[in-house]
Amino acid sequence: MNATSTDAGTGTGTGTGTRILTGDRPTGRLHVGHYFGSLENRVRLQNEGAELHVVIADYQVLTDRDIAANLPGYVEELLLDYLAVGIDPERAVIFTHSSVPALNQLLLPFLSLVSVAELQRNPTVKDEIKHSSQAAVSGLMFTYPVHQAADILFCKANTVPVGRDQLPHLEVTRTVARRFNERYAPPGAPVFPEPEALLSAAPLLLGTDGGKMSKSRGNAIQLAADADETARLIRGAKTDTERRISYEPERRPEVSSLVLLAALCLERDPVEVADEIGGGGAAALKQLVTTAVNDRFAPVRARRAELARDRGHLREVLGRGNKQANAVADATLEEVRAVMDCVY
Ligand code: ATP
Ligand code: MG
Repeated sequence: MNATSTDAGTGTGTGTGTRILTGDRPTGRLHVGHYFGSLENRVRLQNEGAELHVVIADYQVLTDRDIAANLPGYVEELLLDYLAVGIDPERAVIFTHSSVPALNQLLLPFLSLVSVAELQRNPTVKDEIKHSSQAAVSGLMFTYPVHQAADILFCKANTVPVGRDQLPHLEVTRTVARRFNERYAPPGAPVFPEPEALLSAAPLLLGTDGGKMSKSRGNAIQLAADADETARLIRGAKTDTERRISYEPERRPEVSSLVLLAALCLERDPVEVADEIGGGGAAALKQLVTTAVNDRFAPVRARRAELARDRGHLREVLGRGNKQANAVADATLEEVRAVMDCVY
């Protein structure tokens, strides 16, 4: 079951034989960082024949805040974004993980397979603690990557299209899968695959403040933003004081992220895009990015507005997905309990 078709960092991966789990927290609308970091790969692989599972990670909202506000509203927003970009509910399983009890029960044996020191070392958890709105760090925050292992392994996914921030979490999933197999699986018959990350060409798109673009950090360009809002957000984006535009992600992260966003929207090479703007400076760059984003996402935005008229359809999609996810999770939990000798 090991991934055969993907390489972290290459953005390749073909559909057949690929089982994907990926998802998002219902903390707001999805943004262009999600699109180029993960959604585009999800849709491509789905269309190439991969089995796609998408988790709306509602319990994980509580990792960095006391109350998960507006959950039903944000769940609907995610569903609208998914369907608008081309995730097809006839082929993909879209579910909320709080609706799948057997998935959550996997967390218990999985927690026994990692040490507290390993959880404390996780750099993404450290970054998320830095941006957390909680006064004290909860146990859920530290165990978040193990919960994610349950999300990924409940359906035995071998491929996880994610942004770079998720790589340390995926390492935890791989460790959990490996240790579970070593400890419990019969020789030669592993229960879980060791899934591979699938990074895109934009594994860490920056937001308008120069930090990671994030739903919860007020620095995102949402897929659903209108043309004027997009222009306003990009006008306010952080750049630097050098006049000439270049694509140098290490030395000039903010400018390079804007160049990359334009290049991705235009399906062009970022170095060429930067060269073309050259001495035009930040104003010309921002003008180009605005037009590129608005042109690229106009059809997605139109489709989203259309889909938003039928909320009943969204509920029906989620109901179906939850039912399918429960069937998969029940079967996996049964297998887990059998190899752990917990059948009475
Ligand atoms: P929040 O601020 O609520 O944590 P987020 O924007 O970080 O929201 P998540 O729901 O945590 O979004 O992440 C969903 C997926 O999108 C993950 O696979 C993550 O790696 C990817 N992703 C998030 N932000 C970016 C980004 N700026 N660039 C590329 N990929 C991203
Ligand atoms: Mg996040």
